[in-house]
Amino acid sequence: MACVFCRIVKGELPAKVVYEDDKVMAFHDINPQAPIHVLLIPKKHVENLFEEIDQELAYALIRGLRETVKKLGIEAYRVVSNNGKGAGQEVFHLHFHIVAGRRIPPTTV
Ligand code: AMP
Ligand code: ZN
Repeated sequence: MACVFCRIVKGELPAKVVYEDDKVMAFHDINPQAPIHVLLIPKKHVENLFEEIDQELAYALIRGLRETVKKLGIEAYRVVSNNGKGAGQEVFHLHFHIVAGRRIPPTTV
């Protein structure tokens, strides 16, 4: 299995897990770009948001964001998802970056 995030889901690679349920998992980014930098992923392999995502999983991702943020105990955060090489996607397993812990400038990136 080449996909690094699938390997984390399977427990073949270590991760500092923040939140997990039957559909999604959130763990700390190995190379944090902010004091808090967590990745939320579907457990099922989906490349990115260009792929069809069923309603149940779409809801589970939003619920997973809320539950992860609750666990982190933060009051403000940004969610970023890079979709496609041109947007900087390096790991082709859908993920949402949750960044927080410093003043986030009013921008879209
Ligand atoms: P992206 O450029 O949006 O595809 O982001 C991929 C992210 O995955 C980067 O922020 C990496 O630091 C992170 N990453 C890669 N491998 C691991 C890993 N084994 N555990 C945690 N985060 C990882
Ligand atoms: Zn995968």
